[in-house]
Amino acid sequence: MYGKLQEFLQQELAAIREAGLYKNERIIVSPQNAEIELESGQKVLNFCANNYLGLSDHPALVQAAKDALDSHGFGMSSVRFICGTQDLHKTLERKIAEFFGTDDTILYAAAFDANGGIFEPLFGEEDAIISDALNHASIIDGVRLSKAKRYRYANADMDDLEAQLIAAQEQRFRIIVTDGVFSMDGNVAPMDKINELAHKYNALVMVDECHSAGVVGETGRGVTELFNIRGQVDVITGTLGKAFGGAIGGFTTGRKEIIELLRQRSRPYLFSNSLPPAVVNAGIKMFDMMSQTSELQDKLHRNTEYFLERMTAAGFDIKPTKSAICAVMLYDAKLSQEMAAQLLNEGIYVIGFYYPVVPKGQARIRVQLSAAHETTHLDKAIAAFTKVGRALGVIS
Ligand SMILES: *Cc1c(COP(=O)(O)O)cnc(C)c1O
Repeated sequence: MYGKLQEFLQQELAAIREAGLYKNERIIVSPQNAEIELESGQKVLNFCANNYLGLSDHPALVQAAKDALDSHGFGMSSVRFICGTQDLHKTLERKIAEFFGTDDTILYAAAFDANGGIFEPLFGEEDAIISDALNHASIIDGVRLSKAKRYRYANADMDDLEAQLIAAQEQRFRIIVTDGVFSMDGNVAPMDKINELAHKYNALVMVDECHSAGVVGETGRGVTELFNIRGQVDVITGTLGKAFGGAIGGFTTGRKEIIELLRQRSRPYLFSNSLPPAVVNAGIKMFDMMSQTSELQDKLHRNTEYFLERMTAAGFDIKPTKSAICAVMLYDAKLSQEMAAQLLNEGIYVIGFYYPVVPKGQARIRVQLSAAHETTHLDKAIAAFTKVGRALGVIS
């Protein structure tokens, strides 16, 4: 039987390659950090990780993980509700709730699961989910798993959101769902206006803080800090896989009864393994560090400002951003690939994005800043961008 499928798959793969959409994995042989070593032996400066706070290889987190291996073992071999809950899991859930100013938290194996497991238990046919058009794939999949009526509004478009809220007034419950920071442009959801509309039209609010938690807001508490609406959002989902250490793990944090019901009914929680103690203990250490100081956020914000200012002065066209994501606009798919390749030769690792990852004619290089970057790293990147940009006629 496989022969027929194999032939079909070979054709599909060839089509992906021909369209220039084939994803190759670049092999890294060092820990994740500002500077990484590739399999080829080349050392490059990394500007494409979600390692916003530089915690992926932080000695305190590595040590906390080692400590937990000794004190709590390697794996749980169980889901949470059978025999997979350690004191560590409860402590981390509490610390996440303290960080966001919420009632309670439920951990998942990944934010993909947190988003996949939130809608189906809470919303049925008589309800409405009103979702930003650029929300993450995991939200889209999660919404598909519920029977609720679906509404979509154009990215961060408050007039369209209002129109959808009006259209959904007959529904029993309404929930507005948005990413906090959108990963391709780095723009922030207008949470103040979303909150106002939610009040006006009697809707709940959910925000996915994967790219914003740890990053946005003066102390990195995310978009609810940025818009001064801490404690007013009903549901927050997030990841331990980006700013918060970068290992693995997701969470949903918010209203008490919502979290309690998720522990009873959320399928990725009920039917998938517990997070391993080493990851959980490093997470606890991470939130302890966050509660003591926001120096990493300060450094990240300084780095982002420094980079944006100098790149703009050099003549690059940068999308307005409120995050650590900086989209250097090129508008041409081929150019974005050529420029990324030349930058890699200069020791700067960035990725060029083009259709269908971003809209047609909106090709760009996405730069992600980190608290792990030193000013010398930023200067080197800016110099390389300027050199390559001139050679390719992007700037004069
Ligand atoms: C990365 C990301 C996720 C998935 O997070 P994982 O923990 O890696 O599964 C979900 N939502 C958004 C907005 C993301 O950026």
